[in-house]
Amino acid sequence: MTEPTLTSPKIGAAQIRLLERLCNACAVSGDENEVRAIVLEQVRPHASEVRVDALGNILAIRPGQDEGCLKVMLAAHMDEIGFMVIDDEGEGIFRFDTVGGIDVRQLVGKPVWVGRQHLPGVIGAKPIHLTTADERKRSISLDTLRIDIGPENAKKVKVGDRATFATSFTRLGPSLRAKALDDRLGVATLIELLRHAPPNIDLLAAFTVQEEVGLRGAHVAAYALDPDLAMALDCTPAYDLPSWNSGGQHADPADGENTRYNTRLGGGPAIYVADNYTLSDPRLIRHLVETAETHDIPYQIRQPGGGGTDAGAIHKQRLGIPSVSISVPGRYAHTAAMLARLEDWKNTLALVHAALARLPADLLTVER
Ligand SMILES: [Zn+2]
Repeated sequence: MTEPTLTSPKIGAAQIRLLERLCNACAVSGDENEVRAIVLEQVRPHASEVRVDALGNILAIRPGQDEGCLKVMLAAHMDEIGFMVIDDEGEGIFRFDTVGGIDVRQLVGKPVWVGRQHLPGVIGAKPIHLTTADERKRSISLDTLRIDIGPENAKKVKVGDRATFATSFTRLGPSLRAKALDDRLGVATLIELLRHAPPNIDLLAAFTVQEEVGLRGAHVAAYALDPDLAMALDCTPAYDLPSWNSGGQHADPADGENTRYNTRLGGGPAIYVADNYTLSDPRLIRHLVETAETHDIPYQIRQPGGGGTDAGAIHKQRLGIPSVSISVPGRYAHTAAMLARLEDWKNTLALVHAALARLPADLLTVER
């Protein structure tokens, strides 16, 4: 194990290449092998103990320099949303189900990678030439869609195999576009934090499984690690288009102003106050905000509302674990391609690292 270091981690070409590898790997919930292999290779030199638990979580421990350091759990989920093959209809055509929160309207005509070999396929749909005007008004139901990989590879796919959107990682100016930025951004951040762990804390890293199907991995990881406090590192939706006049749920047709943006790209790391599963610990929120202001790191408070992270499972474990979440904002979450800003990722890593390095040992004894 390398010596603890006070140098701040930086995101450069090597870190972006690693994020690209992580994003192009496929790890639909319950089949996280491909990402787990990359994470294990990356974290082994930087932890005193690395183990894979019964569900497949990676638990990596990097102790601080002193006895009695605060034990800080950092969680990032390895799994991603996707599909599971549920029936073989022959000729390389498969019935499938969604894994995790996916809007079926997003699926029609999308290329996919199927199984551990990333076999190319497509989610087929009836062409416009053959649909009636009435059919085009109705939404398409999942049971009318199929994954088609063609007859050549048909025998290589079996019921239970996973599939993902076939979107390769791309840099677009200041942005990153990929599938699974949720939560490979968190995974890549946590790898860097392990490499540059501040010496004042015991860092307990959990690369979790099955977050997208109900925070299942984090539930047992938090029990095993038994931390004093926890932070979930994730990627959260940004719905920050300047105006949205489609008459959608949150649109205000009167002026078109978008007031329900959740988070904005370029605004820095998003600190959670409340989501569907967790009310963040106020001391941890305060500490993150003070750190951002002291170090001049941009940040934003995520608009309280829906969604959830591994913190939802962690904070209720054992006798209760003070928890907070910090996310990189990204547009078009849980679709074929998510878009995030490189700067937001850099600032997220900088904020979490600085917050850990200045974490007061008595943080949890002060009034909330
Ligand atoms: Zn996530």
